[in-house]
Amino acid sequence: MEDYYEILSISRTATLEEIKTAYRRLALKYHPDKNPGSLDAEEKFKRLSEAYQVLSDTEKRQLYDLYGHAGLAGMDVGGFGGFEDIFSSFGEVFEDFFGFGRRRSSRPRPQPGADIRQRVVMTLEEVVRGIDTTIEVERRVHCRTCKGTGLEPGTQPQTCTRCGGRGQVGQSRGLLKIYTTCPECRGAGKLITTPCQECKGAGAIREKKQVQLRIPPGVDNGTRLRLRGEGEAGAAGGPPGDLYIEVQVAPHELFTREGKNLQYRTQLSFVEAALGSEVNIPTLNSQARLTIPSGTQNGATFRIPGEGVPSLRGNSRGDLVVEVELKTPTNLSPKQEKLLKEFLKLSAQEAAKETTKTK
Ligand SMILES: [Zn+2]
Ligand SMILES: [Zn+2]
Repeated sequence: MEDYYEILSISRTATLEEIKTAYRRLALKYHPDKNPGSLDAEEKFKRLSEAYQVLSDTEKRQLYDLYGHAGLAGMDVGGFGGFEDIFSSFGEVFEDFFGFGRRRSSRPRPQPGADIRQRVVMTLEEVVRGIDTTIEVERRVHCRTCKGTGLEPGTQPQTCTRCGGRGQVGQSRGLLKIYTTCPECRGAGKLITTPCQECKGAGAIREKKQVQLRIPPGVDNGTRLRLRGEGEAGAAGGPPGDLYIEVQVAPHELFTREGKNLQYRTQLSFVEAALGSEVNIPTLNSQARLTIPSGTQNGATFRIPGEGVPSLRGNSRGDLVVEVELKTPTNLSPKQEKLLKEFLKLSAQEAAKETTKTK
């Protein structure tokens, strides 16, 4: 096998810039346009490109310097299919130099469409059962009149006169001709002279669309749902973007949410808490009966299973956590006051009894 340095006619200490220059110079010599149909030129061009591929890559060059061709075994080196293949690999070396290399990519590249974000506000009741809803999304879509081409139907784009359809314009600098992207057609080589009336030649229009969506039970503030392909249209044949639905859950007047569980505060008088009681607790669907045992303290919590929020994944459901808040009775009637004083006296006697017992 030939030595890569010899192929490019450079010294073993050549800098990257020197390697690039040597490759450009020799590539010009074996340029496909200059050697039409020559298999020999193509073969030389492939060898040059392989040498450049290795020597312009610091890691590959080091391996080659140390071990020769054997050092590159198993690496992706050479094996080019043809000129086009080489241009697409090393196009940037030729760009604005010979007027080839970037020829293919100077056409508008397919660009994916942008994503759209939209917010949906839900009540807690809706979170529990999930909803089917329709939202209105304004987005950029391909113009149907011109099918996204920007051309008035029945007309053809005109070949750009500035560049003659090549997409690039050249200026002579000594022996070299320097090519740059045509400013008139921006590299497309063609110009739209009769733009589509519907989209004014843009190829896209803004459109309001009703999008149906199903929001599953159990979502929370900030949950995002993605509807693939429902975003903005892409450009030059690129895929459309996605539509992201961001959920916002409105605060509830009775319940606060803690993950899967709901919290509710119920007020009890200290008498009810002392004696024990049965109370009605509202739930999201209806209500539940809760037994408060005697001797319940302020801040005690009780669970009503399955009355919370379903989990987004799986089919478990959280609980309703009831916290007891004791309130002190006010505006006592004379009779109530008398009874409470009686209660206080009894409590004092009971406490005295306890003390004597322990002595
Ligand atoms: Zn042009
Ligand atoms: Zn149009």
